[in-house]
Amino acid sequence: MWRSLTSIIRPCVESSAAPEQQRDILKSVSKTFYIETFGCQMNAHDSEKVIGTLEHEGYLRVEDEAEAGLILYNTCSIRDKAEQKVFHRLNEYKRMQGEGKKFAVIGCVAQQEGTRIFDKAPYVSLVSGSASYRNLPQMLARLEAGENRITGLDDRQTDETFETEFVARTNPHRGYITIIEGCDKFCAYCVVPYTRGKERSRAANSVIDEAIRIADQGFTEIQLLGQNVNSYNDPSAKMTFAELLAAVGSVPGIKRVRFTTSHPRDFTKDIVDAIDAVPTLCDHVHLPVQSGSTAVLKAMNREYTRDWYLERISWIKAAKRDISMTSDIIVGFPGETEQDLEDTATLLEEVGYDQVFAFKYSPRPNTPAVTLADSIPDEVKVARLQVILERQRAIQKASYQRHLGEVMEVMVEGHNHQRGQVTGRSSQNKTVNFTVTDPILPATGSYRTVKITQTFPNSLVGEAVRVN
Ligand code: SF4
Repeated sequence: MWRSLTSIIRPCVESSAAPEQQRDILKSVSKTFYIETFGCQMNAHDSEKVIGTLEHEGYLRVEDEAEAGLILYNTCSIRDKAEQKVFHRLNEYKRMQGEGKKFAVIGCVAQQEGTRIFDKAPYVSLVSGSASYRNLPQMLARLEAGENRITGLDDRQTDETFETEFVARTNPHRGYITIIEGCDKFCAYCVVPYTRGKERSRAANSVIDEAIRIADQGFTEIQLLGQNVNSYNDPSAKMTFAELLAAVGSVPGIKRVRFTTSHPRDFTKDIVDAIDAVPTLCDHVHLPVQSGSTAVLKAMNREYTRDWYLERISWIKAAKRDISMTSDIIVGFPGETEQDLEDTATLLEEVGYDQVFAFKYSPRPNTPAVTLADSIPDEVKVARLQVILERQRAIQKASYQRHLGEVMEVMVEGHNHQRGQVTGRSSQNKTVNFTVTDPILPATGSYRTVKITQTFPNSLVGEAVRVN
């Protein structure tokens, strides 16, 4: 929970507390922190756990960096020139170093740059990658003792995961649970195995216990997270990923379970069977293909071919439920030809994705692909990206039309007062904007049955209907 420090101190200090009590109050709230987070959902959820840990250690989160004693920067290395952006931001922190504040850089760029961060930004006291977050309480204690140059960088080969019951959940309706950390896939373009370390799974019982706690707190939707959830390997050897999905989906009070991200190499048919069998599992699979060309997939070290991928898609299409499929695409990977691009475009059409996140390739430090000549000029990459986006838009325009007249359950996420619409999300993760006849708008987090009256390439429009 974010609170302004002044709003907390003032009532305390103005109270009739004795001076020594007032001093204690001020002393305790002097352990304040501000956190800035970049990156993927894994990073955002890591921050929720870091915040929970700090709060458990007696820190108070503030929303203004000027009020913080400790400033944490949770970094992401996926963006182009990520490290330059981090050092630029750290440079902005520099002006605050005379105010007695402490600075911590955590996350993927922290792991990637390591102690170079101390050299370039000597006012930073703590640098930690995500594999060391479980040691955060000890690192904080050393920080409070006045130590500088504290590192958490040597845990990438650990078998342990960052488990904590202290999670400051920022989404009021969707609870995130990490089931697997790290990655062993080593795709040629990706820095994650080097920053987040080797794959390690949480015990199924621990995941289910967290799901029960979340449900008890009133959450109705759970998203299971991991860089590659499909290679989940229960250390207690009790459950496969599909069985874990079904178990989480059976927790009383849970209405929706999502999971991300899947790797085609490890995607098994029993996941589709579980979605068919357990209604609370959302009918949506995000299965990043990256390219439709087997040659490019090989160069990317994705460990599957176009045909292998399409076989998994055929399982999903053969399901009893209409399972929505989405994907990630990289265009302009070194060596990609016009024919490779066409293979990607035809794959989009063959699959019929409901959404695609397409990016231009750019090299990342410390990845195998960085040694390949980045041979495709940027203007060609831009043009290729445009081809993919346009082809995909046409696919979505047609595919969203299948929902016209359909009645579906929508979770309310907000209200668009200007348009007089309620906004929400379907089980397939599609945005649905709808009208209600009730004068009282439905609360966020509640569910409504909606009849679809109009379709667009990226959203659906409808009206709430009563169910008898
Ligand atoms: S599966 Fe590949 S792209 Fe995904 S995190 Fe692992 S190495 Fe990166």
